[in-house]
Amino acid sequence: MELHERLEIPPERLGGLGRPAALLLDWYHQNKREMPWRGTDTFTPTPYQVWVSEIMLQQTRVEAVRGYYSRFISQLPDVAALAAAPEDQLLKLWEGLGYYNRVRNMQKAARVVMEQHGSALPADYHALQQLPGIGVYTAGAIASIAFGIPVPAPDGNVYRVLTRLLGSSAGLGDSKVKKALAQVAASMIPPKAPGDFNQALMELGAIVCLPNGAPLCNACPWSNLCVARRESIWQTIPLLPEKKPRRVEERTILLIASGGKLLLSRRPAKGLLAGLPEPLNLEGYREPEQVAACVEEMGGRAQGLHPLGKATHIFSHVEWQMEGFSASSPLFDPPPGFFWATAADLKETVALPSAFRAFWGEVDTLLQNSLPQG
Ligand code: SF4
Repeated sequence: MELHERLEIPPERLGGLGRPAALLLDWYHQNKREMPWRGTDTFTPTPYQVWVSEIMLQQTRVEAVRGYYSRFISQLPDVAALAAAPEDQLLKLWEGLGYYNRVRNMQKAARVVMEQHGSALPADYHALQQLPGIGVYTAGAIASIAFGIPVPAPDGNVYRVLTRLLGSSAGLGDSKVKKALAQVAASMIPPKAPGDFNQALMELGAIVCLPNGAPLCNACPWSNLCVARRESIWQTIPLLPEKKPRRVEERTILLIASGGKLLLSRRPAKGLLAGLPEPLNLEGYREPEQVAACVEEMGGRAQGLHPLGKATHIFSHVEWQMEGFSASSPLFDPPPGFFWATAADLKETVALPSAFRAFWGEVDTLLQNSLPQG
């Protein structure tokens, strides 16, 4: 099938894509946002820095990533440091970013790079894709930005801006359509500026051709060329696959403290929040008496049991609707799989998932109140 057929557009729309590419690059040089990982006249990021930023930016906004990135790079400045980092440090640096497997895979990849590539990320698009956690998009971003290799970095932003530019209503649920769009992106790359071009496409999608709400066409370098704008069809493009409804789970969360420590356990090594610490997390909504009975079963006694209200956390396929409680207890041996964490542990080494963030506000007071009086 020809490219234009795959994209369900007339063939002439694929001609002359050099003009939008040139307009986009000009726009980028005038409008790009400053970012600590982005190259300037006086700063060139290392391939490692590009990698770290690209992994952090997946599913996370630029503004949220800035602080994480700077902290991560200052503690783990290169591949060797990442490969050698203790898992606790790694997870703590990632605390709140979510999708913790991303950072675990980064460490696996760093170890492969140490063993097989002499501690430097390979300047090779295909070799990059062999590393854990590095897919087509990330390999394209690293290869083009860090090594100047003319390959595309197709992500959701890129698919959106290209389908709109071309007026393609082909469904993005079809991987062949995505591949066709990657081919289009590849054909537009100016040989001397592959990294800037890929970043420009992403930037256009992030700040002008917006994913939610109306695109800012008046500020777009393609306003005179874009089919979606001309035909007023941006609302229907891109055609996204239908999302499956999320499974809703009701949970009861209990923060229980004793002697200035919080009771935590580790989640199973596989699945949601794999291997991360969490407070007592019970299936279903429980009455206060049931929560107190549960503490007794573990060997404690719930004193001052206090409701913390409700909170929702949305994962990609699951939604937790949680009801929280806090209590203190006389000291008891933690049951198998549980451990006590001090305030210092919580601050320095234990990475608490943001899923429970709504309940953390009271932790300091709870720990304080659980200290023996007098
Ligand atoms: S003109 Fe509008 S719809 Fe078209 S690419 Fe630009 S912002 Fe998006």
